[in-house]
Amino acid sequence: MLQKTCRDFADNELIPIAGQLDKNHTYPKEQVKKLGELGLMCVDVPEAEGGTGLDYLAYAIAMEEISRGCASTGVVMSVNNSLYLGPILNYATKEQKAKYLTPFLDGTKVGCFALSEPGNGSDAGAASTTAMLDGKKWILNGTKSWITNGYEAEATVVFATTDKAKKHKGISAFLVPKPTDGLSLGKKEDKLGIRASSTCNLIFEDCQIPQENILGEPGMGFKIAMQTLDAGRIGIASQALGIAQASIDSAVEYAAKRNAFGAPITKLQAIQMKLADMEVKVHSARLLTWQAAVLKDKGLSFTKEAAMAKLAASEAATFCAHQCIQILGGMGYVTEMPAERYYRDARITEIYEGTSEIQRLVIAGNLLKEYGV
Ligand SMILES: Cc1cc2nc3c(=O)[nH]c(=O)nc-3n(C[C@H](O)[C@H](O)[C@H](O)COP(=O)(O)OP(=O)(O)OC[C@H]3O[C@@H](n4cnc5c(N)ncnc54)[C@H](O)[C@@H]3O)c2cc1C
Repeated sequence: MLQKTCRDFADNELIPIAGQLDKNHTYPKEQVKKLGELGLMCVDVPEAEGGTGLDYLAYAIAMEEISRGCASTGVVMSVNNSLYLGPILNYATKEQKAKYLTPFLDGTKVGCFALSEPGNGSDAGAASTTAMLDGKKWILNGTKSWITNGYEAEATVVFATTDKAKKHKGISAFLVPKPTDGLSLGKKEDKLGIRASSTCNLIFEDCQIPQENILGEPGMGFKIAMQTLDAGRIGIASQALGIAQASIDSAVEYAAKRNAFGAPITKLQAIQMKLADMEVKVHSARLLTWQAAVLKDKGLSFTKEAAMAKLAASEAATFCAHQCIQILGGMGYVTEMPAERYYRDARITEIYEGTSEIQRLVIAGNLLKEYGV
């Protein structure tokens, strides 16, 4: 039922406007609000907390369908669900949840997650943003870069060093409302893809927040960030699956109508080989993604599986979008058809929430541990 609801929403509300949103760099405000009405901005938040009360498998299925319609809308949904609400659900106090969780469940407000910095992305433990306790206030200084939803978010989870000597164990997580004195935004990044979602720097200059805005204990920030990203990767894998599936849909639809040498190009085995390779990559990545989600739902370890899912799904998305353009020929190269947008949108899934190189390190690290090496 959920899949059908999301599929219908994508077909009716996203696919008709995704190209225009992308072209004009327009944030999908109305669509996000409607996602909220469908319960899709807080999919795995328990009903007792005011959320939809479904599980991560449901979230993965919903994310794929929404991203099939519009990958930009998909990333807004994914950041709010996994990166913003996820750590708050797991670590916030009752008082913090009342301010930073409850108002962010229905799509009227979105949150963001600020870990990366201009000087470090993959090496997240090297954070140079600082938070110093001064009486009853934390004072934040530093710049966070590439923050999805940065323009629209009305609060952010921020990671900052509270004890430099302890390196990554000296990083803490904070809840910061937006706007706040001492927090300004950098320019909106002009991106290759997911152009309807905003990405910008968050600049903290003597930004004061109350002492009680720390999330979890001091020094827990790195652990919170890594746990959050493990779950987030299931969302990005699903976003990638949506882009990959859209590429297959588009390629089949076009190829069935396009004639060459007297017959539809679907009759050409060269085209069939491409479609078969696309299908195998998407199908296997989907099974990996759903397996990672089920492991998470069962409370089992899923770090390696989430990394495998994200790696496989993001590479499937890039592959399928590339092949989709090839199958469409010249029509794949112009904005009249969505194939070129899929190609641009796919690329980010191999970069954010851990690059493909980082996923391989996570997979190999866990694999070697299993062998006791
Ligand atoms: C559109 C967009 C949205 C984003 N949204 C967010 C967000 O909401 N919040 C947030 O905190 N961040 C966000 N990011 C940041 C993103 O997570 C980082 O860009 C990503 O983690 C890579 O970091 P980097 O860009 O600093 O690259 P670097 O870490 O500098 O890496 C450069 C290259 O070196 C490779 N490399 C680095 N270390 C290793 C290693 N140990 N072994 C092998 N290869 C390695 C990388 O794989 C990459 O190919 C976003 C980025 C983009 C582009």
